[in-house]
Amino acid sequence: MDLRVQFERGVASWSGLPQRALPEIALMGRSNVGKSSLFNAICRRKQLARVSGQPGKTQELNYYCVDDRAYLVDVPGLGYARVSKSQREAWQRLLGRYLAEREVLTGVVYLIDARHEPTAIDQQVMQTLSSGRRPVWIVLTKSDKLSGNKRATALRAIENHVTKLPWLISPTVLMTSSVDGRGIDTLRTAVWQQLGLDSANIG
Ligand code: GDP
Repeated sequence: MDLRVQFERGVASWSGLPQRALPEIALMGRSNVGKSSLFNAICRRKQLARVSGQPGKTQELNYYCVDDRAYLVDVPGLGYARVSKSQREAWQRLLGRYLAEREVLTGVVYLIDARHEPTAIDQQVMQTLSSGRRPVWIVLTKSDKLSGNKRATALRAIENHVTKLPWLISPTVLMTSSVDGRGIDTLRTAVWQQLGLDSANIG
């Protein structure tokens, strides 16, 4: 049976965060990395998160309630937002505080396009995540666009990078494709388990 996943709210300030003590996992990555597609794939929905035409316009943490027992949080694309400097700074403050202080945040899925080296922003965010006390999944997206050899090379490159960071909890690195389904079941199972959702009900 599929779990019920429903959009609950967009949150633009600390005071707007849900007060219910439900565990949550955040999905993050640069605009156009394939986050909406992955989000839909792990929830087995066609169109839960909006697949972006205009990257990075909204800067809100998008809360999706899973079966009334947990949240998946879609963090808007990092890096491209067409907003003023002060809005960008306020957003960065909220995001920094969210990663540092949000107690119910029990895991982070960080997405990087498998075809590209991690950018400066990717490296900066991974550095921040490495000092957190929660599991992190580094997900290489759009792996269907690479041949087998190139997939292996991309995986090695990211693993090399990741092992240089001083993680408190070692991250899991995996490859996904929302087109051919690679890695989706693995990620879905890991995320649902981390949220404490009964694996018998994994959608
Ligand atoms: P977001 O901006 O990170 O939410 O990215 P989207 O999910 O909107 O995807 C951006 C673009 O990449 C769209 O054109 C998608 O169709 C495409 N895309 C997303 N995931 C995949 C994938 O796994 N494989 C391929 N080939 N294309 C993908």
